Amino acid sequence: MSFKSDIEIAREAEKQPIQHIGAKLGIGPEDLIPYGHDKAKVGQAFIKGLEGRTDGKLILVTAVNPTPAGEGKTTTTVGLGDGLAAIGKQAAICIREASLGPCFGMKGGAAGGGRAQVVPMEEMNLHFTGDFHAITSAHNLLAAMIDNHIYWGNDLDIDDRRVTWRRVMDMNDRALRDIVVGLGGVSNGSPRQGGFDITVASEVMAILCLATDLDDLQRRLGDIIVAYRRDKSPITCRDLKADGAMTVLLKDAMQPNLVQTLENTPAFVHGGPFANIAHGCNSVIATRTALKLADYVVTEAGFGADLGAEKFLDIKCRKAGLAPACVVLVATVRSMKMNGGVAKADLGAENVAAVTAGCANLGRHLQNLQGYGVPVVVAINHFVTDTDAEIDAVRDYVANLGAEAILCRHWELGSDGSRDLAVRVAEIADSGVADFAPLYGDELSLFDKIECIAKRIYHAAEVTAPPQVLAQLREWEAAGYGALPVCMAKTQYSFSADPTLLGAPEGHSIPVREVRLSAGAGFVVAICGEIMTMPGLPRTPAAEAIGLNDLGQIEGLF
Ligand code: ADP
Ligand code: MG
Repeated sequence: MSFKSDIEIAREAEKQPIQHIGAKLGIGPEDLIPYGHDKAKVGQAFIKGLEGRTDGKLILVTAVNPTPAGEGKTTTTVGLGDGLAAIGKQAAICIREASLGPCFGMKGGAAGGGRAQVVPMEEMNLHFTGDFHAITSAHNLLAAMIDNHIYWGNDLDIDDRRVTWRRVMDMNDRALRDIVVGLGGVSNGSPRQGGFDITVASEVMAILCLATDLDDLQRRLGDIIVAYRRDKSPITCRDLKADGAMTVLLKDAMQPNLVQTLENTPAFVHGGPFANIAHGCNSVIATRTALKLADYVVTEAGFGADLGAEKFLDIKCRKAGLAPACVVLVATVRSMKMNGGVAKADLGAENVAAVTAGCANLGRHLQNLQGYGVPVVVAINHFVTDTDAEIDAVRDYVANLGAEAILCRHWELGSDGSRDLAVRVAEIADSGVADFAPLYGDELSLFDKIECIAKRIYHAAEVTAPPQVLAQLREWEAAGYGALPVCMAKTQYSFSADPTLLGAPEGHSIPVREVRLSAGAGFVVAICGEIMTMPGLPRTPAAEAIGLNDLGQIEGLF
């Protein structure tokens, strides 16, 4: 069997003009700001006018601990959206925008795959509507204003050894991780250590994705802590008077982008925060807008459910007042095999015993998610190499837990392959049985919140942290940040902090090495293990295979 590549399929898409897609949601042409023929932003005034309307049903797509290739959350989000539309429901999907880093690196694009994609996939994966440019510019304006303030006399008494605000760009470039800025003499400022993160790791990105409107955006930008004085008191973006200009740079980027799937289902693609040091889901403004306009909104949270769904539920839903009506937990036969101990090179061969062993990982996620009071259905994302015996092993395992697993072939067949899932998800969402509650209350201490997640979600025995981390958490509590949720940053491959500990480990220890305060975004980041905020490119970057063909079309994106 041979299959067309993602980009070949995307190129053949029968796209509708973006005004037709807007019309499906009741957005008139006057409220769409077109970027070409197949992309548009939804106007801010129109969004304001939606207040008071009732919300549709929110459906979260999450996954088991993945293999390095990804298990198909985006693909399933798109496939389910198309499946719902195919059974006559008014549906929309909400996903993140793509970063150039993974696109030119190893992981490829972020528009789904096979017959379940968002189009135009080339543009969605490349510059799109310029939101990441705006975020990069706003972030770096603040960086420039910090060094400029120090240069002109430093009235705020910034301790130049304690400037926490780095610079960003949307590229994997390890050479920029740690650099010295201000070299070259008096007129260039004074030398200090600095560095770059990738744009999706910017707190401005997280803020844009959590802000409810432009006023909230500016308030949160103002709250960003950029540096400390020698007495350790914080200096904010507001102290530097940068919040107004940053809001101006972000004004258009705050408007959600509307595109479509291969089957012309409306798709909001907006925002793209990192899933480790940030919360890893699309913007609140896009999700809320979609809920006002569609009866069913399917959205995705990054990484496995231990990180992505936990943060979606405990940060995004808590802060934005959202409550999912159903959770779809994506599993693949290959991820079960890997969690069952099979090496990456051997994932192609049938191995029912390993699938069954690896299902412990799936079972753990399923029970964790049920703990939030939301019904969960397992979607087996079918790969053409899966055998019937392997699929049955997953089904049987889930049935034994009293839950249901539905085989999905949307990658191969589009909505014809996701109908069963769509019918069931719609039934569950309509039944109203969901009774969502976050994992912990705001009033818990910051350390207790970390411990609650580690014990209840990761099944760890303990959390360890050096004394300075504990002292730092207490200082932030004293300074009024104690009610914030925590954003866990750890490996996506394991319930533990050790990426090689697969399956459903228990009794491990979660080491919190460092904590960071994202005062504008509104969470405290707990870093457990090595976390990279500026990735590098692999030995053979995907970029080497990307180019234009004789027809001027892009080749090599996937
Ligand atoms: P995630 O969102 O979980 O990271 P994606 O949906 O982006 O995963 O999928 C990761 C990659 O796997 C994509 O290149 C996609 O085309 C591919 N993929 C997803 N589902 C399937 C499938 N059922 N068969 C073959 N390839 C798939
Ligand atoms: Mg994805």
